[in-house]
Amino acid sequence: MFWKRKKIVPEKYEPAAAVLTREMTLMFQTLKHVVRSDLVVLPHVPMQRLLRPFGQLNQKERTSLHAALAGHEADFVLCSGKGLRPEAVIMLEDHGHEVEPIFEHVGIRFFRIPMKGAANSDYLHTVLEAYVAKNEDTAKNLSDTQTILPRKYCPKCQTEMVVKRARGGPWEGSLFWVCRRYPRCKTSELHKV
Ligand SMILES: [Zn+2]
Repeated sequence: MFWKRKKIVPEKYEPAAAVLTREMTLMFQTLKHVVRSDLVVLPHVPMQRLLRPFGQLNQKERTSLHAALAGHEADFVLCSGKGLRPEAVIMLEDHGHEVEPIFEHVGIRFFRIPMKGAANSDYLHTVLEAYVAKNEDTAKNLSDTQTILPRKYCPKCQTEMVVKRARGGPWEGSLFWVCRRYPRCKTSELHKV
């Protein structure tokens, strides 16, 4: 009952450092940098907000639609800026096979992006071709971009550095700035979000 709820102690909390996980934040920043400026990037959208029944569903159809969507969320959705109509769904890694046909059928593009490509703007440019900014938009957003996605240059050889995820060892899963000339130049630094 609501008057019996557990006591919470406000002074034992503080704001989270970020609303999203590190990986999601990095991808969010990269998506914002890459997609057209008339689109809005929304993270963690419940699948049930993306579709609605069209016409009459019988009980069985209603149940199976609910089973397919309930409890699932799209990692990112690209929406029209006006009205937030969903245009494309982006899933990280290999998730969402069972619902993909529904989205494709209703004309919402469905993308699966491997985690290692999630923060790579060249890769996202290629995959999300229809949704990415044209050159003039990119130029217009350049000043934003520089604050969102700082560029970093190798202190040894002055080549631009790229963000990569450690695949093994004690730092497995962590993100690093790595010199683009790797393995010829082995400079790397822990990436702080
Ligand atoms: Zn270097």
